[in-house]
Amino acid sequence: MKLTVWTYEGPPHVGAMRVATAMKGLHYVLHAPQGDTYADLLFTMIERRNHRPPVSYTTFQARDLGSDTATLFKTACQDAVDRFDPQAIIVGASCTAELIQDDPAGLAETMDLKIPVIALELPSYSRKENFGADETFYQIVRGLAAPQDRSARITCNLLGPTALGFRNRDDVEELTGLLSDLGVDVNVVAPLGATPADIARLPAAHFNVLMYPETGEAAARWLEKTYGQPFTKTVPIGVAATRDFIAEVQAITGLTATADESRLRLPWWSASVDSTYLTGKRVFLFGDGTHVCAMARMARDEMGFEVAGLGCYNREQARAVRAVARDMGVEALITDDYLEVEQAIEALAPEMIMGTQMERHIGKRLGIPCAVISAPVHVQDYPARYSPVMGFEGANVIFDTLVHPLVMGLEEHLLTMFRDDFEFHDAAGPSHHGGHAPVAMSDASGGSISGKMMPDEAPSVAEGSNVIWLSDAERELKKIPFFVRGKARRNTEAFAAQKGLQQISLDTLYEAKAHYAR
Ligand code: SF4
Repeated sequence: MKLTVWTYEGPPHVGAMRVATAMKGLHYVLHAPQGDTYADLLFTMIERRNHRPPVSYTTFQARDLGSDTATLFKTACQDAVDRFDPQAIIVGASCTAELIQDDPAGLAETMDLKIPVIALELPSYSRKENFGADETFYQIVRGLAAPQDRSARITCNLLGPTALGFRNRDDVEELTGLLSDLGVDVNVVAPLGATPADIARLPAAHFNVLMYPETGEAAARWLEKTYGQPFTKTVPIGVAATRDFIAEVQAITGLTATADESRLRLPWWSASVDSTYLTGKRVFLFGDGTHVCAMARMARDEMGFEVAGLGCYNREQARAVRAVARDMGVEALITDDYLEVEQAIEALAPEMIMGTQMERHIGKRLGIPCAVISAPVHVQDYPARYSPVMGFEGANVIFDTLVHPLVMGLEEHLLTMFRDDFEFHDAAGPSHHGGHAPVAMSDASGGSISGKMMPDEAPSVAEGSNVIWLSDAERELKKIPFFVRGKARRNTEAFAAQKGLQQISLDTLYEAKAHYAR
């Protein structure tokens, strides 16, 4: 048992739903207890799809367990085929149904449904959502891809985009344009938008573009082994990665056309003088392995940030993430426990977090700005506007995404200069974050920022320790800009603890500063 409040990923059958919902002409019959239909909301509310996912649940109840749940499953299969007339169905069990061992695969096979039936074995107690999506897509490809000649023109498949994927919709559009510049047509995009008949056509392409290793790698590897289709290894997120991707496609195809860079703005935006204040900002990255690896390189090489730490929640990508972490000289954090992530962030005290919806909350609690770079995400990250993260337009989008949560250069300067001003005082925060509300709140240092809550004159006791901050030291600490004050506070307290001091005076503060500056 594990005490869990937040989970980064759903159970594997949600991954299977992401594949089924991405596709057309395919239906998913899911043996599941009443109540599991909650997952529909992920698609109809978070992703704002205008139709129900193509999923039939058996929705068995407690009273059904005494009788024949297997018949319930068969009835649901027949009803789904009669009502939706799909080209193929996938069948499987949710966590609870896994325990009652009705064997959906065997049951569906005995029914003579006249359409392909693809059985899913998803171990709900050991694997999660991304595995579920990857495995489901792989089983569908294995079951439906048909041997055939390559297309006359050079074509590729785009593999991995799913329903509920972070910016998948626009990444597909961006890559389709980029590949067209290079003289490559897209044969099939899958699973997003593909029908079972499209899946059958996958082997006609000359190669595959593996967009998201999390959800498409097993299928890409199988197609390579079975149909000799090479697949791209570079995920084109960031300017350098996009150029590497282009070189990879050129090497596979032998084509020499180049991509249109006329709309690429990130390099100049980031080189322009207003971006000077971004240099050396300490960032912490957390999310799925693919986005973290790609964005870490961007953060360091294209934005000028310092990567203070990084990690991922999906252990399937642990090796790749560790390699990038080594390259950055930091330690990788591989965990799906958000409390560990929170601890790591607190200890590193970065100036910005690049993370998921969870890190947004952690950032809010710690007073650290956060840009969202990976699923799981909330409804605001399925935007109406065009917002890819791949390719050259993706790079433009990421630049804006990363800069926006930061206090802008001028604002940062003003905040420090006029820290007593009613508008620019420490607690005001970035103007677009509603920071002017006159409520008592905590600053990044964990201390109170309301004058009433912490009278300037009174010595304060550091949280979780017995060290007392003398008032002159506390006053001096407040002169440090708020976004680095948390770190200064922690360093000073650690220094005082090392020296066995009970009180932090002005001298201690400066001695600690000198100590850490060495
Ligand atoms: S079957 Fe799985 S997904 Fe459904 S309610 Fe139970 S634990 Fe949650």
